Amino acid sequence: MNSSIRRISGCLGLVILSACSNVDAPAPAETDAAAVAAAQTTGAATAAARIEADVRYLADDALEGREAGTSGYQAAADYVAARMADIGLEPAGEDGWFQQVPLLASTAILDAASFSITDANGETVALTHLDDFRVFTTSGKTEMNITAPVVFVGYGVNAPSEDHNDYEGLDVEGKIVAYFGGAPDTFDTEKRAHYGSTSGKAAEASSRGAVGTIGLFTTATEQRFPWERVIANPLRKRMTWVHPDGTAEVSGNGLDGSATLHPAISEALFKGAQKSFAEVRAEADKEGGAPEGFDLPVTVSMTSAQTSEIVTSPNVAGLIPGSDPTLKDEYIVLTAHLDHIGINDKKIKEGKDGINNGAMDNAMGIATMLEAAAQLKADAPARSVLILAVTAEEKGLLGADYFAHFPTVPAEGLAANVNLDMPIVLHQFTDVVAFGAERSSIGPITEKATSKMGIKLSPDPWPEQGLFTRSDHYRFVEKGVPSVFLVVGMAGDGEGTSMDFIANHYHKPSDETALPLLYDAAARFAEVNYMIAIDLANAEERPHWNEGDFFGDLFSKK
Ligand SMILES: [Zn+2]
Repeated sequence: MNSSIRRISGCLGLVILSACSNVDAPAPAETDAAAVAAAQTTGAATAAARIEADVRYLADDALEGREAGTSGYQAAADYVAARMADIGLEPAGEDGWFQQVPLLASTAILDAASFSITDANGETVALTHLDDFRVFTTSGKTEMNITAPVVFVGYGVNAPSEDHNDYEGLDVEGKIVAYFGGAPDTFDTEKRAHYGSTSGKAAEASSRGAVGTIGLFTTATEQRFPWERVIANPLRKRMTWVHPDGTAEVSGNGLDGSATLHPAISEALFKGAQKSFAEVRAEADKEGGAPEGFDLPVTVSMTSAQTSEIVTSPNVAGLIPGSDPTLKDEYIVLTAHLDHIGINDKKIKEGKDGINNGAMDNAMGIATMLEAAAQLKADAPARSVLILAVTAEEKGLLGADYFAHFPTVPAEGLAANVNLDMPIVLHQFTDVVAFGAERSSIGPITEKATSKMGIKLSPDPWPEQGLFTRSDHYRFVEKGVPSVFLVVGMAGDGEGTSMDFIANHYHKPSDETALPLLYDAAARFAEVNYMIAIDLANAEERPHWNEGDFFGDLFSKK
């Protein structure tokens, strides 16, 4: 699961992302993945036992939290490749099981950070880095050095489907735009997540000629992301993937960088403007509120710099070739992210457990995907099924995005995606939530699979979170591929156990096998995903978006 909350302001999303991790983990203990895999699987008679063996291996301290680009991650990738071979899958990467994903990892040069505001009278206030602001250089660039006027642009959202354009009547060419994180709450949850995404808003600002962005906080976003989290770990590496021609994948390439401003200091930006920061913030905080933009009578100078290096980290791909001579050219893709957030150096220095083992996030997703793969393999599905363990999900869904741009099977054959990310199996679940199912022909198939197993299909319990846009399947959706993402539901003890996990263990060292993980519940979770996948693979009709679906219309090439 990715915590980046992409609908929050440009910088903030990246802050949350980069707060997770660190690329330079020490080398893990020697592991012989293939031997361990073979030993574990031959000894494991039941689905639950196989899942447990996989989770225990992947969440072991020796793998040091499986951060993308580290040797701990590579050990995990070797293990998954060995398990795929064991199940009888065919290698489906670019070179054997692996598709190497080139990642650009950037580290801020803190001394280069500056931010000052000059008002209409020529008076300049220089702010203090990390106390008052944080700056980011655009990926692929070495520095930002901007002095420009500022335009407040509300949420900075242009949403044609909602008849909403925060840029209407505003000229931002050559200027810095300042906007609140997120998107208006009048949009439904998934549109809100889509239009409020960090990358989408940066691309919109860039396409209008803006040179930089400043992220502002509504009261709600400030509560969700207190400033301490914004400035935590300023030296953490940020990542994007690299195109074959060597350029970094960036939304909003025209921007040199961005800043996030502490809410207590944001009023200085609005000095002499037609409305104060307090006024526009109150408008944004109101239900249905969306403040209109206007020019701010100030000039901002902001600078930053970073160093970058390329690291590679593989996706792992295994294939079950379709048994039908025609349908085999269509692929049902199962995905789960193999990476997690690595080591917390600060905790290690304090003598505490600093290894983020990621047992639930997402060793459990990988283990259940492998179990579903074994069942699928035994069934000889009509369509081909691709089993894909992706890297760098925690860095912004990068491995999945790279695969979606450069699939190792023909792109036109990608028929559907079933994603497994962090099933919280801490109770004997009786319901599941199927994000995205209602948008495509995957819906009825999901209903059939769950009802056969006596599992209830529940509505999204967290509509405000926009979860449909926050895991790897969304990179397939953006390529027009109908997708579904199942999570364990809240019925029975689900709400208590899930909320406790999110509050106390999610993205923490305590997400480990010491938790009372229910491997038999995980086996049921694997089975329901298997049943959806096998029906998709054998259905007469290729999976398709529902007529008029927002994401189908937005992304699918008809
Ligand atoms: Zn996560």
